[in-house]
Amino acid sequence: MASLIEVTDLKKHFPIRKGVLQRTVGNVHAVDGVSFAIEEGETLGLVGESGCGKTTVGRTVLRLVEPTSGSIKVRGQEIGGLTKTEMRPLRRQMQIVFQDPFSSLNPRIRVKDIVGEPLKVHGVGNASEREDRVAALFKRVGLRAEQMSNYPHQFSGGQRQRVSIARALALDPHFIVADEPVSALDVSIQAQVINLLMDLQSEMKLSYLFVSHNLAVVEHISHRVAVMYLGRIVEYADKVSLFANPQHPYTEALLAAVPLPDPALQRTKNRVTGDVPSPINPPSGCHFHPRCPIATDRCKVEKPMLREIAPGHQAACHLR
Ligand code: SF4
Repeated sequence: MASLIEVTDLKKHFPIRKGVLQRTVGNVHAVDGVSFAIEEGETLGLVGESGCGKTTVGRTVLRLVEPTSGSIKVRGQEIGGLTKTEMRPLRRQMQIVFQDPFSSLNPRIRVKDIVGEPLKVHGVGNASEREDRVAALFKRVGLRAEQMSNYPHQFSGGQRQRVSIARALALDPHFIVADEPVSALDVSIQAQVINLLMDLQSEMKLSYLFVSHNLAVVEHISHRVAVMYLGRIVEYADKVSLFANPQHPYTEALLAAVPLPDPALQRTKNRVTGDVPSPINPPSGCHFHPRCPIATDRCKVEKPMLREIAPGHQAACHLR
């Protein structure tokens, strides 16, 4: 049976234009040949540092950003070439929760209208049926029905993210891209929102592409994890295998940077320094070679392919 979402060799390059004639002088290689699949009821965690292309992957899969090339299939149906009208029924099934609940909710609109907007746009029910549906969604995400007439500024950050989740659920989707959904929230609130997403998943058989830079959060919510570096997936495995036995030096470095409860036990092995290089002119060969503690000359010239190292565990490294 076809996967719910199947992405093959997805690329998104943003042209850099200069001068009066706006000539293209280069490209930002935001996503550079990414492949993955997400099954019904599954969460794929997509993790990497800021600027690695993970947010662009999420938006391109939903076709909020048009891909440069590659294939995106939903239950086996290619959606890459569909027109806006053809995409419309699929839009109901595919939603997004944004990172920042402060800027993603219009401050001048009552939250009941924000949550009910997708129902209105898709012509679902009459006004009173929509209001009942919004009340049910409010209850489901842990908000009170009497808060429905409030404006976004009357809610805390965690409550605002619950409003965003209610809006994403309005049309009974099958798939949600959660783009750093808890990183703007206090740590004490993050767990509540993550637990809500997990409860909703088991109740509604939802599938998530969970985009985050936070490995601890990704480990908690994901079934499988893809690690991205400069537009490419460098490691792809089930959660247990990836966290217990990371194969790519970049994944090892990310794990080494996760703080331990006891500072005396702080890991020093394989930590990387420096920033992610520019995706305008990425390093040759293995993009990670300038920061890799075990790089060889081969790494500077030859791109490592993502290959299976153990059953269901893939990594892109010449030395593994
Ligand atoms: Fe490091 Fe080379 Fe492996 Fe890249 S291919 S991760 S540079 S050892």
